[in-house]
Amino acid sequence: MTTPGLCGACCHGRRTGNGRGSTFWLCERSTTDPRYVRYPALPVLACPGFELRVEDPSAGPGSPNLSNRSRSAAYVRAQSGIRREPA
Ligand code: SF4
Repeated sequence: MTTPGLCGACCHGRRTGNGRGSTFWLCERSTTDPRYVRYPALPVLACPGFELRVEDPSAGPGSPNLSNRSRSAAYVRAQSGIRREPA
């Protein structure tokens, strides 16, 4: 599977699929903003609409603590599979 890039950690991204085992990332911003495509080409390495998905702190142990900016950046990199910045 292709890594989703930013969509994997964005609150507007949602993983979806078809009955044949393919996986897609749906950008929910596309429903209200024509600048965004419904299924962006992956991996998305830069996006002006990116907003970090904040996990529910009441979800229990193992949930990422996103209150610290540096940890948030590490979380984004880990979730997105991004190893370097785009050229
Ligand atoms: S706003 Fe950008 S990063 Fe977020 S889901 Fe849509 S395309 Fe992906």
